[in-house]
Amino acid sequence: MEDYQLLIDLHKEGYRQGPGGDSETELAIKLSGLDTAGSLNVLDVGCGTGASTMVLASRLDCQVTGIDIFDEFLAEVIHRSTQKGLDSKIGTRNYSMDDLPFAKEEFDVIWGEGSIYNMGFGKGISYLRDFLRPNGILAVSEITWFSKERPQELENYWNSEYPEIATASEKMSTLETNGFSMMGYFPLPKKCWEENYYAPMRSRFSEFLRQNEHSEMAREIVASAQKEMELFSNFHQYYGYGFYVAKKL
Ligand code: SAH
Repeated sequence: MEDYQLLIDLHKEGYRQGPGGDSETELAIKLSGLDTAGSLNVLDVGCGTGASTMVLASRLDCQVTGIDIFDEFLAEVIHRSTQKGLDSKIGTRNYSMDDLPFAKEEFDVIWGEGSIYNMGFGKGISYLRDFLRPNGILAVSEITWFSKERPQELENYWNSEYPEIATASEKMSTLETNGFSMMGYFPLPKKCWEENYYAPMRSRFSEFLRQNEHSEMAREIVASAQKEMELFSNFHQYYGYGFYVAKKL
């Protein structure tokens, strides 16, 4: 459990816990064709400290429930929503996305930025589909190959980290096989990784190491994040996050 606590400590002060951007969340909302004045019931799975939760609540006429398995992140969602005057539209629950107590077809929208991989893409979309009403919107971002071929080093890394990594056309096919119809797709721009995610994380490394007295575990966490950043810097033309917006048929 200790390494989880260290990961929480490293990430809880981050505005986001994965690659993304407010304007990319807005673009996905636009692609979804959602009626912004529609009184929508929205679920944000693996919401972290609430980057997308805030955008959804501010752009849509809705109630958003953010779920995550770490209370420290959810506390930050509440704190931020209060600061932004969005607290009446946002609630949080500590639930695991693979064991949700909600009713079938309860939600108009299910959102998941950089989180569906926790269940695996195929299993995740198939499980979450049950909680969406017919014609409801699923919007998820997911690690994606941007080319058919890539360097072996990169292939090896991702096949051991997340073997479900695939091209956008393969991900879309999985969505279609699982009863969704594509509304839109776009790759996240590089700045969503470097400026919005990696740079703020990098600036927390020294304080994180100091607070943990440079323990072996803390140094390992930093080294593995640095390896990931180096890989991205060398090979970002081959992979990144794809944002998939789909409608439940
Ligand atoms: N959506 C956020 C966080 C992405 S990081 C953002 O874009 O910034 C992935 C998130 O999934 C983390 O907050 C992590 O705590 C959460 N998570 C991991 N396993 C989970 C599970 N089984 N159920 C729900 N959330 C989970």
